Amino acid sequence: MPDSQVLQADVIVVGSGPGGASVARELTKNGKKVLLLERGIDQRSRSYYGTYLGAILYSDRGSLLFSQEGLNIVRPLLVGGATSMYCGCASPPPTWLKEKYGVDIDAEVAETIDELEIAPLPPGLRGVASTRIARAAQALGYNWQAQPKFMKPTRAQKFDCGAKCMLGCRCGAKWNAAEWVDEAVAAGADLRTRARVERVLIEDGHAVGVSGRLEGRPFTARAGTVILSAGGIGTPRILQASGLKQAGQGMTMDVTVMVYGFIKEAGIGKEPPMTWSWEDPEVGYMLSTLLDPWLLYPLINVLKGPQYLLTWPRWGNILGVMIKLKDSISGGVFPNGKISKPLTDYDRPRLKMAEEVCRKILVEAGAKPETIFMTPLRGTHPSGTVRIGEMLDTNLQTEIAGLYACDASTFPEALDRPTVLTILGLGKRLARHLINQ
Ligand SMILES: Cc1cc2nc3c(=O)[nH]c(=O)nc-3n(C[C@H](O)[C@H](O)[C@H](O)COP(=O)(O)OP(=O)(O)OC[C@H]3O[C@@H](n4cnc5c(N)ncnc54)[C@H](O)[C@@H]3O)c2cc1C
Repeated sequence: MPDSQVLQADVIVVGSGPGGASVARELTKNGKKVLLLERGIDQRSRSYYGTYLGAILYSDRGSLLFSQEGLNIVRPLLVGGATSMYCGCASPPPTWLKEKYGVDIDAEVAETIDELEIAPLPPGLRGVASTRIARAAQALGYNWQAQPKFMKPTRAQKFDCGAKCMLGCRCGAKWNAAEWVDEAVAAGADLRTRARVERVLIEDGHAVGVSGRLEGRPFTARAGTVILSAGGIGTPRILQASGLKQAGQGMTMDVTVMVYGFIKEAGIGKEPPMTWSWEDPEVGYMLSTLLDPWLLYPLINVLKGPQYLLTWPRWGNILGVMIKLKDSISGGVFPNGKISKPLTDYDRPRLKMAEEVCRKILVEAGAKPETIFMTPLRGTHPSGTVRIGEMLDTNLQTEIAGLYACDASTFPEALDRPTVLTILGLGKRLARHLINQ
């Protein structure tokens, strides 16, 4: 048995979330020999997939990853990346991506919407309590809309979507980037799991491969093109280890909190997450219907104070509105392994404004004002760590020839909306750029 394995390809793609899956699938289908390296494994057939145990097993640090400031970061590490635990929401890319940064992915996004039949859930599946929140918001003049989803109820044997759907989809309704990995593999891509890439190999200013550990043993892979799609935390870490020190300085997160209020009737916990939403582009935040899964609820809210544990028995009666804030670039992902994501003086008052709007909506929807509270901060969109316009050109190439990033790390500012559709558009566009080269 050799000490070190050496693999070879035309293109190496690191990470199999939406960024890696989309670029690998497109390149493979167009005849490129692609090596797809994924740190995690394919968990979809495991009995614990989509359970609380599963979420602990396949999230970084058992879902207990925190920034230095105490912000809880959910970072799934498995085939399909964070789409294995996402809420299945789809939003088009912000117009500023094209207008301000010159990145036009309109055609790729339109194609993806058609291909995956992205649309809101039918009215009857949007949830009675969720719809009650949306109607209350509309009555107050906020134009909430049904949220387009990467979900097709007809794909499920029994559509059974609730807050627990964030642990991993067990009913099969929700699209996952792992499906595009399957398609890439069927078209000839070489997928290696338990392959943790540590650094990019660079010779004469050109990327020539990567090195790391494959199933615990050192390995090297060589290719003329390397695409890092290891996510908003993984990609800057690999770049730092490869000598690109600017990576990871500053980050965005779409910092998230929930505002909860209690009613007598059934709440939103057993309804699909995020079926309705609304954006305030002026202030810079998005609101949507959402509640933590039953067992995560006390774990998160005990961080706010032990008295909040007392609300757990009433989980079934909660109306929840999630705030996603368009946060400033701050903190970063550091070579010592630490992550920092402080709110800035610009962020805090805007979060407060969003909270006030949530409180009004919940009261209008029937929640008693004294029951309403805001949860601790968390982050599910680590991003903006290898930004377009600073570290990347409009084709997502770094200063190193042949070295690209294609994932949430590339966002030049906080997206403040579901990220996946934008990332899929970036992946398709990068693949086409490379094929045309
Ligand atoms: C709970 C939750 C709900 C969400 N809901 C939504 C939603 O409804 N809609 C939406 O659009 N977005 C949602 N998101 C966000 C979205 O899922 C992510 O922003 C998106 O998946 C990021 O894609 P990515 O390709 O950048 O990275 P990821 O999806 O994070 O994939 C990166 C992959 O790289 C692998 N990797 C990391 N380091 C290495 C390494 N060194 N070597 C090899 N492999 C490595 C990881 O294991 C992972 O599989 C949600 C996220 C979470 C956590």
